[in-house]
Amino acid sequence: MVALMQPRSRGRLRLASADPTVEPDPAFGMLADHRDVLALRTAVREADELVRHRAFRRATDAGASLEPGRPVEGCSDDELDAWLRGGCMGHFHAAGTCRMGDPASPETVVDPVGRVSGLEGLRVADASIIPDLPGAATHLTTVMIAEHVARSFLGEDRASSVAELRRAPQSARTVTGTRS
Ligand SMILES: Cc1cc2nc3c(=O)[nH]c(=O)nc-3n(C[C@H](O)[C@H](O)[C@H](O)COP(=O)(O)OP(=O)(O)OC[C@H]3O[C@@H](n4cnc5c(N)ncnc54)[C@H](O)[C@@H]3O)c2cc1C
Repeated sequence: MVALMQPRSRGRLRLASADPTVEPDPAFGMLADHRDVLALRTAVREADELVRHRAFRRATDAGASLEPGRPVEGCSDDELDAWLRGGCMGHFHAAGTCRMGDPASPETVVDPVGRVSGLEGLRVADASIIPDLPGAATHLTTVMIAEHVARSFLGEDRASSVAELRRAPQSARTVTGTRS
């Protein structure tokens, strides 16, 4: 398996309804940017070379295959690209649908402490505000975002962790409160 940890393709998430109980409509747009196809093609060919290296001879004497009986070696770029387009899947790391950034920029939805532009008393603290995908899994980044927004929510020096936020009075925790 090869993985592209920093894809250039971008998807989108649309609300399907004004009713918050209706699931939104995501379009991941995987491999929409051809540079991602080129990067994965290169990765598959390098993985194939790796498993055909003599160091792997005791484990296998065959190279990588797209499927049984269809070795990567000898595959044309077009065949490989079609296989990638038909078979690639996500890593469950969707992020960045309402990116954090400079509040003056029309591309950003929340400021660096999670305040939603144009709305009083509303913050977002989850994977959706990650501006650019980290080259790693997203859970730890999301926890750090929560810690950072929580600290700001209570005032830099008042909370050092989410645990402290949980102990804070209800009035300081509500997302519709007046703290900003
Ligand atoms: C199958 C899978 C495997 C993964 N594996 C890894 C991994 O190994 N390592 C890694 O780093 N990351 C992994 N991730 C990614 C990581 O889990 C996510 O990036 C991270 O959980 C995102 O955090 P979040 O707070 O944005 O969303 P979530 O963790 O999805 O949290 C959203 C929360 O909001 C709640 N919620 C939703 N709607 C409402 C509502 N209307 N009212 C009240 N509450 C609501 C949900 O119940 C949920 O608790 C994986 C993700 C998936 C799906």
